[in-house]
Amino acid sequence: NRKVVLASRPDGAPTAENFRLETADIPAPGPGELLLRTVYMSLDPYMRGRMSDAPSYADPVPIDGVMTAGTVSRVVSSNNKDYRPGDWVLSYAGWQDYSVSHGEGLEKLAGDSLQHPSWALGVLGMPGFTGYMGLKDIGQPQAGETVVVGAATGAVGSVVGQVAKLKGCRAVGVASGAEKCRYAVDTLGFDACVDRRADDFARQLADACPDGIDIYFESVGGAVFDAVIPLLNTKARIPLCGVIANYNSRDLPDGKDRLPFLQALLLRKRIRMQGFIIFQDYGDRYQEFVDEVGPWASAGKVIMREDIVDELESAPQAFIDMLQGKNFGKLVIRVGED
Ligand code: NDP
Repeated sequence: NRKVVLASRPDGAPTAENFRLETADIPAPGPGELLLRTVYMSLDPYMRGRMSDAPSYADPVPIDGVMTAGTVSRVVSSNNKDYRPGDWVLSYAGWQDYSVSHGEGLEKLAGDSLQHPSWALGVLGMPGFTGYMGLKDIGQPQAGETVVVGAATGAVGSVVGQVAKLKGCRAVGVASGAEKCRYAVDTLGFDACVDRRADDFARQLADACPDGIDIYFESVGGAVFDAVIPLLNTKARIPLCGVIANYNSRDLPDGKDRLPFLQALLLRKRIRMQGFIIFQDYGDRYQEFVDEVGPWASAGKVIMREDIVDELESAPQAFIDMLQGKNFGKLVIRVGED
């Protein structure tokens, strides 16, 4: 049983030394318990927060603790009448091959997730729910409006863009590099996608949004947000989902304090910016997502590119790379055979 534990807390960007691979015996399930084999493991930006002991909405992973992750697993053996060997379940087994569960918090895969088990970690799982719900509830998209989203080919952003299009909006993505931008337009159906690493990024974004921005789905922060600010329309909405550009920051950025300017802008243009944590705020509305996005995913109207990396040992580097935009699509580790 391989497991990846948190060896130390990162100071700035995580490094390989912050993780440690360990091996242990495969645990034995007790009465009422079942043994799970991890097949797919999700890597998500929020894990950077769990590596830190700074105040957050969730507890940190303890030093020497197994790193947290959502997983798709198969039941190997079961002493629990609700589960049989071979069942597929969504669980939170973390970065390890095997885990023992009482059955609480597990969800049996059903529908399209049974055909495509990794989708339960992406388009039909937490990231898809995040993009859908943040756009719908806080963004309140109206046909004809312009929606901008960063990390446009990633797990959350790709759903934001495709759902925005299905709601009749103009969808403008931001991503790093020509290949991702081409994919956003040609395959995901964005109206435009701008390379955030281009020298004239801010001007290109302005050109892609001739009518300004009505909804900015904020997943990234940093220079992308800087370029968005002057383009925001009166009554714009900003679902504040993530600020990945800051996750490795130690300090405030250099330069002038722009907070008073931002406050005045929010006031003058009556802009609504609202943070949300998906399951805390919307856990009771999961069915809405299943009912609306499920059929779109079945029909191929909402897709999510997967970036599948083999082997648990690859997880630390894949995670480090994701924080630098090296993933292309939803990052998933294939831990075991399905
Ligand atoms: P992605 O699959 O989109 O992967 C992360 C992407 O972020 C990278 O591929 C990269 O895309 C982009 N990125 C990295 N660094 C920067 C930077 N400095 N500036 C701009 N973009 C950058 O991840 P997810 O879809 O899983 O997550 C997207 C965001 O949503 C994260 O901020 C995450 O924390 C947040 N989130 C929030 C939730 C909530 O409940 N509030 C739930 C789930 C996710 P590229 O290089 O193409 O720009």
